Amino acid sequence: NKIIKQLKVNNVEIKLVSGDITTEETDAIVNAANSHLQHGGGVAGAISRKGGPGIQKESNEYIQKYGKVETGNVAVTSGGKLKCKYIIHAVGPIWRRGSQQEEKLLYDAVFNALKKAEELKLNSIALPAISAGIYGYPIEKAVLVYKKAVYDFINSNPQFVKEIRFVIYDEAHLDYFLKEF
Ligand code: ADP
Repeated sequence: NKIIKQLKVNNVEIKLVSGDITTEETDAIVNAANSHLQHGGGVAGAISRKGGPGIQKESNEYIQKYGKVETGNVAVTSGGKLKCKYIIHAVGPIWRRGSQQEEKLLYDAVFNALKKAEELKLNSIALPAISAGIYGYPIEKAVLVYKKAVYDFINSNPQFVKEIRFVIYDEAHLDYFLKEF
C-alpha cells in the first residue's frame, strides 16, 4: 500500500494510504461490519476471505454470547491469518438521506473503534471508509465525520495509539480525503 499523505497532530501520526486494508500490518484493522457480523461483501468479505474461517467463527461466537452489535458500536476478534493482531468490527449506519442520525452513528463507529484500540493498548490502527461503500454514505460527508472523530480522539490524549491510517480502496475517494486532511 502506498502512503499518500501523512500529518502529525499532537503526538499522533495520521496517514492516508491507498490500497487494500487486508495487507496492513498495524496492530488492528477496522472492518466495516454489519450488526450481525456476517462478513459477506465489500471490505468485510475481503477481510473474512483473506483472514480465514476463524474470523467468521469468532464473530458468530461473539453474536451468540452478546447479541448483535448496535450501529455505532464495535466488537473485537483476532486477526486470523492477517498480519494485524486484532480486527475491530465497527458497525456504521446505512445512509438514509441524513434523517436517521447517520452522522452521529458514523462518528460513534469511528470514535469507538479508536477508543477500543486504546483500551487494548495498541499503537497503530488502520480504518477503511466505513459506510461509504454498500451502505451508501456520501464520501464528501463521511470524510468530515471521520476527521472530527479522529481529531476528538487525538484531543483526548491517547497514551497508546500513535498511528492512525485511513486505507482508501476506492480511488474516487482519494481527493475527498486529501481535501479534508
Ligand atoms: P459499508 O457497508 O460500511 O459501506 P463496504 O465494505 O461496502 O462497507 O465499504 C466500505 C469502504 O471500504 C468502501 O469505501 C469500499 O471502497 C472500501 N473497501 C472495499 N474493499 C476494501 C479493502 N480490501 N480495503 C480497504 N477498503 C475496502
